[in-house]
Amino acid sequence: MPFALETETSLNLDHAGICAWLKETDPAALERLWAEADQVRAAHVGDAVHLRGLIEASSHCIQNCLYCGLRAPSEGLDRYRMDVGEILACALEARRLGYGSVVIQAGEDPGLTRDHIASAVRIIKQHTPLAVTLSLGERCDEDLRAWREAGADRYLLRFETSDPVLYRRIHPGLPGVASDRLAQLERMRAMGYEIGTGVMVGIPGQTWDILAADILRFRDFDMDMIGVGPFLPSPRTPLGRPEAAALRATPGDQVPNDELTTLKVVALTRLVCPDANIPSTTALATLDRAHGRELALLRGANVIMPNVTPVEYRARYEIYPGKACIHETANACQGCLQGRIQALGRRMGKGPGGRQKADSEMSGSSDLHH
Ligand code: SF4
Repeated sequence: MPFALETETSLNLDHAGICAWLKETDPAALERLWAEADQVRAAHVGDAVHLRGLIEASSHCIQNCLYCGLRAPSEGLDRYRMDVGEILACALEARRLGYGSVVIQAGEDPGLTRDHIASAVRIIKQHTPLAVTLSLGERCDEDLRAWREAGADRYLLRFETSDPVLYRRIHPGLPGVASDRLAQLERMRAMGYEIGTGVMVGIPGQTWDILAADILRFRDFDMDMIGVGPFLPSPRTPLGRPEAAALRATPGDQVPNDELTTLKVVALTRLVCPDANIPSTTALATLDRAHGRELALLRGANVIMPNVTPVEYRARYEIYPGKACIHETANACQGCLQGRIQALGRRMGKGPGGRQKADSEMSGSSDLHH
């Protein structure tokens, strides 16, 4: 492993320091941030870019998150749910393309029963050497334990924001059901999962202080995988409608949902979590189709999640409109990404691409929406 685990940054990364970096506009200063993040990335996780095949297994959802096009009240969606054979076919495709892991992602869908997912994980493990990540929302411990026993390696669940008031506003949850995503993440870690999380950048009401606290929370919870993408409004959702402007923080405090701020968060996350797996997200590629993926890889990221969902399902999994690469076949995506990675002087990772901690061999990645 080409990892020199002693690399440290000279930047001030306490709460005030992170806030200052998030607001920084001086190009010369930002070059320093990018360079430090890239050096720490190279020293701790190397030049490999790990590819995780994304399987969008169901677009059904019982939740009501104010930012997500799949939320239960969204009308006019042609919802679908893959059977076990379809999920396995996607995993075999990922394997054929040389990817080392798959991410089974879906809305919070009770139709994806404990047995359904356990069977899918088991059959993928029987037929492939792939690591399996699940991103299926807030599920009970019995489900999570059964899936872990079936062989699931990792679980992704965004905590969304470290601010409890903002969290309750954007994630109303189900009546009578308390939502504590950090507690679920800790329980999953105790079950043996690698755990991944993330936040969106620029959600209405998100202030610089809140975002800085999110970044420090990644560090304090020692997250294995951290996905950060810009908030992309969907007109199907309350946060995508003009009235949502009323929820924004005051102009000097509101975090913008732009590319530059997202890249700063990627870089700062790399600096505070040097050996985490950090994806260059599809949401960022959607904001900047020409360079978004590459810029994130140059500023701290080391993972990409190409979609291996059959093309006919992808348009029916609309979290936000205009998603990048939605019409590309899995073959075309693999070729395109390989070329982009090589052009940066990097290489495609081999194997599961687990997190390489100094004291263990854990791992993961994500472009998740829960
Ligand atoms: S973010 Fe996940 S849980 Fe929330 S509405 Fe979208 S699919 Fe459902």
